[in-house]
Amino acid sequence: MQFQQLSTATSVATVTHHHLQTLLFTTATNSLPSSSMPLFFSSIVSRTATPRSLLMSTSHSAKTRLRGVVFDMDGTLTVPAIDFAAMYRAVLGEHEYNRIKAQNPSGIDILHEIENWTPQKQRKAFETIADYERQGLDHLQIMPGAAELCDRLDSEKIRRGLITRNVKSAVDLFHERFGITFSPALSREFRPYKPDPGPLLHICSVWDVLPNEVIMVGDSLKDDVACGKRAGAHTCLLDQTGRYDSPEYVNVEHKPDFKVTSLAEVYSILEVNFDLSP
Ligand SMILES: [Mg+2]
Repeated sequence: MQFQQLSTATSVATVTHHHLQTLLFTTATNSLPSSSMPLFFSSIVSRTATPRSLLMSTSHSAKTRLRGVVFDMDGTLTVPAIDFAAMYRAVLGEHEYNRIKAQNPSGIDILHEIENWTPQKQRKAFETIADYERQGLDHLQIMPGAAELCDRLDSEKIRRGLITRNVKSAVDLFHERFGITFSPALSREFRPYKPDPGPLLHICSVWDVLPNEVIMVGDSLKDDVACGKRAGAHTCLLDQTGRYDSPEYVNVEHKPDFKVTSLAEVYSILEVNFDLSP
């Protein structure tokens, strides 16, 4: 049984990758705004010399079924309120911050950096992190478009999950304050945390769906996109300011399948590229 499931998953992944690329070519040229074009669109165009008529003829074949959307919280479902650079500087000190930043162009993994510190040093670091997170909670606002997107997913009976490196109390506050709940909602207490694929694979198993039937939506290339790609899920990067257009991100290991500048763009991407039937 297990083997059968695995072999089905493999063939689905192979078929859908081809179809998705074909679909993306036709849909991107027809209906998507330029800001929401899949990132690899340009590479498909330059790599394939397939006549457009052939692409059109296969564009109506089966789309990948989408059964769940997993969101990041800070900076994705909520307006960015935590000054992460200031937090990292406060924890690491200016010199270490600059040294580690130079080695990690796609961003610093602060929880990883402090993992092997002495208990005393670590305790102080966590206090500093908690201070910044508390300040963030004081200014907590829901991201524009988040409530509408969740409503539309609910109306299509698409599952909604959440994975954050923040603490459980912050997730509880989000649920209470905005009246939108995610299930499962995994916080820092769930180990291993993002960018490990563990939390996303856990959600897939709770939902009893395949990773390639799920899309991870988040504002962090190093955490959300990496977690999603490692799990074998689809990924959508929310980049409100265009910061990931910078040349330093050209050679990162994990690239998102889709990129948006607002959550308002997400639903149309899902509608165009996936089969949303429950
Ligand atoms: Mg985030």
